Amino acid sequence: MGSSVACQLAQRADFSGRIVVVEADPSYQTCASARSAASIRQQFSTAINIEISLFGIAYLRDIGKWLTVDGEQPEIGLHEGGYLFLATADKEQILRDNHALQIAHGADTALYDRAGLAQKFPWLTTEDITSGCHGLSGEGWFDGYGLMQAFRKKARSTGVEYIAARADRIERHGGDWTVGLSNGERISAPVLVNTAGASGGAEICRQAGLDVPIRTKKRCVFTFDCRERLPSFPLLIDPNGTYVRPEGTGYICGSAPPADQDPDCEDFEVDYELFETHIWPTLAHRVPAFETIKTGPAWAGSYDMNLFDHNAFVGGVPGLDGFYLALGFSGHGLQQAPAIGRGMAELITTGHFETLDLAPLGIERLTLNRPLIERNVV
Ligand SMILES: Cc1cc2nc3c(=O)[nH]c(=O)nc-3n(C[C@H](O)[C@H](O)[C@H](O)COP(=O)(O)OP(=O)(O)OC[C@H]3O[C@@H](n4cnc5c(N)ncnc54)[C@H](O)[C@@H]3O)c2cc1C
Repeated sequence: MGSSVACQLAQRADFSGRIVVVEADPSYQTCASARSAASIRQQFSTAINIEISLFGIAYLRDIGKWLTVDGEQPEIGLHEGGYLFLATADKEQILRDNHALQIAHGADTALYDRAGLAQKFPWLTTEDITSGCHGLSGEGWFDGYGLMQAFRKKARSTGVEYIAARADRIERHGGDWTVGLSNGERISAPVLVNTAGASGGAEICRQAGLDVPIRTKKRCVFTFDCRERLPSFPLLIDPNGTYVRPEGTGYICGSAPPADQDPDCEDFEVDYELFETHIWPTLAHRVPAFETIKTGPAWAGSYDMNLFDHNAFVGGVPGLDGFYLALGFSGHGLQQAPAIGRGMAELITTGHFETLDLAPLGIERLTLNRPLIERNVV
């Protein structure tokens, strides 16, 4: 997110300032962007998230136009395999409502009844399902680490400076924000954009005098191979929230742990029990071919969960001039990076959003206690 904002700010002809990205871990080993499932969908329940992802897919399809450096076009392996959300009878109306909203905003998603699902996806168990919604285009997955590096490379090529240090202390001096770094240096700027993600974002807000309900939540990703060929396999979401999608010649999958067993993320140990007791049984029921699989490596990452409403805080903060947020993406931040970077660059330069009105993601909703509930959190 930091590199997307920096890159798109630097690309504006009407911006002439100096841009510095402060990054505590230039190896990017544990950041969410490096551990993401890197998928993009239009199947959200809020208009703003649908519009952000429509912008996102257009940007990813045309990545060379935006992020080519010295004639070298980034490779992000975009594959538009679609999402397939499944619903049981009690959740069917929600699926229908979401679909109507998606269509109204220009998303290319289609509803299927049980018979339609069985015909289109013959490898699927449908007897406990009443309907499903499939992304016909504009949804799929890509190389998330590749996208992050492409933003970074483009940013550097347009003059953005990267400092390898932790931002330890944030203070306001006169009209500027001063940041004390772990290497002993201090830098000052009239504009500070907090893109420190799940690991550091809430602490930086606290130092600026702002409490945000953003917490780190561990999410594990498991890989496996399946001998049987299942053509045109989408990113499948079971009604219980378990997801699975193709990755190379195999698959990746995951699921949120039960809410009462979801503490803040303190380490990156993989929760294999979750796979054994919950994920695999779900997959084997939903896709009988997955009864026989060969498991591969797994990893854990940290979701940047906004406990208030599972949506990001984006934009300025009333009463904190020059302090901006792009935080709390709650597991859908990678696909949102193109639109959020674009919007933040516009806001910083002109004082308002131009391409997409990102105001619904403003932090004002926290003070007003008006949550923008996202019902489709994966
Ligand atoms: C397992 C998993 C699966 C996911 N799947 C998807 C998906 O399918 N689709 C999707 O769109 N999103 C997905 N996400 C979410 C997405 O990856 C994140 O929302 C997104 O990457 C957040 O980007 P970010 O730049 O805000 O945070 P990060 O990538 O975490 O970057 C924050 C950076 O800030 C640095 N930092 C922190 N504190 C400081 C400090 N004090 N000083 C200096 N630097 C600091 C960190 O080192 C880090 O590099 C997934 C996330 C996980 C963990």
